[in-house]
Amino acid sequence: MTLAINGGPRVRSQDFPAWPQFDHTEEEALLRSLRQGQWWRVSGKENTAFESEYAHYHGAPFAVTVTNGTVALELALQAAGIQPGDEVIVPAFTFVSTSMACQRVGAIAVPADVRPDSYGIDPEAVRRKITDRTRAIIPVHLSGHFCDMTAVMAIAEAHGLVVIQDAAHANGARGEGGKRIGDWHTLACFSFQNFKLMTAGEGGLVLCPTEELRDRVYLYSNCGRPAGDRSYNHTVVGTNGRLNEFSAAVLRAQLARLAQQSERREANARLLSEVLAAESRVTVQGHTAHATQHPHYMYMLTLNPDDGRVPDRNRIVDCLIAEGIPAYRAYQALYRIPSFWLAPAPSTSQAQLIAECPVTEHIAAQGIWIHHRALLGSVEDTLDIARAITKVLG
Ligand SMILES: *Cc1c(COP(=O)(O)O)cnc(C)c1O
Repeated sequence: MTLAINGGPRVRSQDFPAWPQFDHTEEEALLRSLRQGQWWRVSGKENTAFESEYAHYHGAPFAVTVTNGTVALELALQAAGIQPGDEVIVPAFTFVSTSMACQRVGAIAVPADVRPDSYGIDPEAVRRKITDRTRAIIPVHLSGHFCDMTAVMAIAEAHGLVVIQDAAHANGARGEGGKRIGDWHTLACFSFQNFKLMTAGEGGLVLCPTEELRDRVYLYSNCGRPAGDRSYNHTVVGTNGRLNEFSAAVLRAQLARLAQQSERREANARLLSEVLAAESRVTVQGHTAHATQHPHYMYMLTLNPDDGRVPDRNRIVDCLIAEGIPAYRAYQALYRIPSFWLAPAPSTSQAQLIAECPVTEHIAAQGIWIHHRALLGSVEDTLDIARAITKVLG
């Protein structure tokens, strides 16, 4: 069959469900926050309400809303006392903000390879990267699949390290024994940018395990000024990371829709993985026992060599897009991104990191991800994703 990219018929004649989704609840939230007459969090009610609703949903005692997920990571690192020159272990395969936030606070991001099944940070690789300057680990629940948190927490405890979960893909995710993100008692960062599983266009949040950490994250997000201060007593060097009231109001409506959307995505992702198991030219991201609820920010797969030939991943992504599939190239390995080598950078070489991270090398070169809105349709919609993959690879 002629490929759509060559002028043939598209597998998808209609688009998948649009993203973001909204209804009268977002509209009412926007009007409510507008009519509140107070549009910043300092005198409004929406941020405070959203923080307690979101924290409760994730099993955490406290949350602080912030302007975006990148700033959430920077503030969490500062609140945890990470200093310039400290080393922070991050997965080599993640969005750049995980490491860039470390650089922004003067810390050195140290990439560790990921696991071939879950694409989450490999505990063995983490152990190999620990030095006497290591202060923290940032595990990323990649695409929403929980990484091996039991192992990460054990390493952190043995070496006295801070753990900050980068949960930008993982709203509502659950790990072993059904544990929620807050149940691990660490700082955890979320993003609410337009693509994410909940969104107000932009936005972020830090879950906090203690009131002391909540106060510190707030302090850094409030230009270093403690809540309630009237005498301009700024006690730390912070920034303005406060989220406005309109965004928080929209996010309350988005949270109310999350569970139902996740259920649909999980069911469709299971179906898609069953069908693609018969397609020898791809390997889908595994689903290990470390993840009991996988909300699927991304549906991820890698291309396998075909008759010994290396697939042209970028061309295949372009072909999938032409067939009507919202497909994207996987992230680059952190150590292949130019900004990673600007100060502060680890005192190692790109060649060394390439040698240490074979799994990241493979996923970054041959990985494809499909946006979660494609999993919000019907069974037939979902089967179209498999049909398009088979057509393009054929
Ligand atoms: C989206 C994302 C972030 C950053 O969030 P922004 O709100 O875009 O700043 C951080 N980490 C990961 C893994 C992400 O995907």
